[in-house]
Amino acid sequence: MRLTVELADSQEVFENMVEWRRYLHQNPELSFQEEKTAVFIKKKLESFGLEVQSNIGGNGVIASLSGDQPGRTIALRADFDALPIQDLKDVPYKSTKPGVMHACGHDGHTAALLGTAKILAEKKHQLKGKVLFVFQHAEELPPGGAKSMVEAQILKDVDRVFAAHLASDISLGKVAIGDGLKMAAVDKFEITVQGAGGHGGRPHATNDPIVIGGDILNGLQKIVSRKTDPLQSAVVTVGVFQAGNAFNVIPDTARLEGTVRTFDEGVRGRVKDDIYRIVNGITDAYGATANIDYLSGYPALQNDSIETSIVQEVLEKKFGKDNIVEFPTSMGAEDFSYFLLERPGTYFRVGSRNEKEATHYPHHHPKFDFDERALAEIKNAFLAITTHYLS
Ligand code: MN
Repeated sequence: MRLTVELADSQEVFENMVEWRRYLHQNPELSFQEEKTAVFIKKKLESFGLEVQSNIGGNGVIASLSGDQPGRTIALRADFDALPIQDLKDVPYKSTKPGVMHACGHDGHTAALLGTAKILAEKKHQLKGKVLFVFQHAEELPPGGAKSMVEAQILKDVDRVFAAHLASDISLGKVAIGDGLKMAAVDKFEITVQGAGGHGGRPHATNDPIVIGGDILNGLQKIVSRKTDPLQSAVVTVGVFQAGNAFNVIPDTARLEGTVRTFDEGVRGRVKDDIYRIVNGITDAYGATANIDYLSGYPALQNDSIETSIVQEVLEKKFGKDNIVEFPTSMGAEDFSYFLLERPGTYFRVGSRNEKEATHYPHHHPKFDFDERALAEIKNAFLAITTHYLS
């Protein structure tokens, strides 16, 4: 009921958002390759009469809107990259690019922020302060686009930062919000054990990297169970263990790859040190060597407690208290964390699933889709936040 009313208030912009979203959905571009998407966003923003800057830290696009009176500056952010997934939906707006798909809803984030910009551009005389619309490339692939956009100083004059993400695990009409650490820091490691191969019947004449890799695999498990404070959180997962081709041959090398998830920067650094020490210690003990490539991904996402409670109150007023739910903490990752390290703000999730259509698939699933009324939900949330901070 509530959604129907909200749509009727701005039916034209809702139809615009659906059209833009479907265009983006049909024309997805992978992380760091979003040139056409960036041009599409730029043209739309210019058509609203906004001052636009593109190629910010890569394919990033920003537009600023100054109200008629002075006040605070807030940034609203949407991401716009797609994923290397084949679209398996049977809908008229399915991806036209083989193997590339908007499977996380970033097309929706972009369309909703464009709709927000269009409405606010017409209401600038009512605003006290500035809105910076941030369209960020490459959220899905570390090092990501957020870091380079923040390094390009886009937040220099910004006081608060906000972002929304669609959520297919939450019903349409509900918004999930919460303060503190909500998503984990993500790092990746690749270990190559260099042994000495040979005949499977003459192990003493080899240095077996599979056996050494097995000890490393077991050693790494003790980082969480024996080295990490039980009241802290950490994950060390080995997702790849590859070695050998034949049953009677000892190979030269073994390769292990894995991911580390943490919330605390101290724990994060210590887990990394432990991995190096365990890998180097074990290989050394067996007279082998190992090469470790350690790639630091996004930092943990931490919502500011004051701004989160302000936004929660704003959204409760807008959508009704019953429609605001707790944001479940997860070991997933999101590079909006870089924005939140620079400025206080909050990242919240907007329900996009209904019971009638195929909107229940998890994010990154080849059939992922969302109820397009969620576009209006994001826009309405952004409008309510802007109204609160800039009036
Ligand atoms: Mn996403």
